[in-house]
Amino acid sequence: MRTMFDLETGDITGEATQSQRLICDLAGVFADEEARAALPQDTVVYRVKMHDKEKEGTKGGLLFGTSFVNPGKVGREYFMTKGHYHAVRDTAEYYFCIAGRGALILMNEAGECWMEEMRRGTLHYIPRSVAHRLANTGEETLVVGCCWGADSGHDYETIARTGFSKRLMDVDGQPRLV
Ligand code: MN
Repeated sequence: MRTMFDLETGDITGEATQSQRLICDLAGVFADEEARAALPQDTVVYRVKMHDKEKEGTKGGLLFGTSFVNPGKVGREYFMTKGHYHAVRDTAEYYFCIAGRGALILMNEAGECWMEEMRRGTLHYIPRSVAHRLANTGEETLVVGCCWGADSGHDYETIARTGFSKRLMDVDGQPRLV
């Protein structure tokens, strides 16, 4: 079967695998743990569709995927991904926004945190040694295409321990990094 990438929806069909994260998988990720625990635990926060031609860890290989972050909030904090550094810090990544509205939240190893606004067509280069996560600030699904080195790996552990130094919150109806 031919593998297809849908330019409108970001869906990958053919040779593709899918994973997802539910509210119950994200304990401790959001500021308001009580609000998270009160949501229906089977709520899908985000899913990732991947065209994984290479095993993670394969030197010189590339991986490609689409992230779909659903609209929603935990308290005043927008639905977002867990976020990660690359296990091999010296590796970059490209993101591009296909649909929806959101933010790419970035943090360097000095703990400086900033964001890039995402909307259909925006292109984002994630430099080496910079942690990254997606947040949906809109009312539709945020759809983001991603391409990264297969040997980059994922370090979720550091972010699980330290978090990002800032959070993207709804402040009087506007997304603000606080
Ligand atoms: Mn990455």
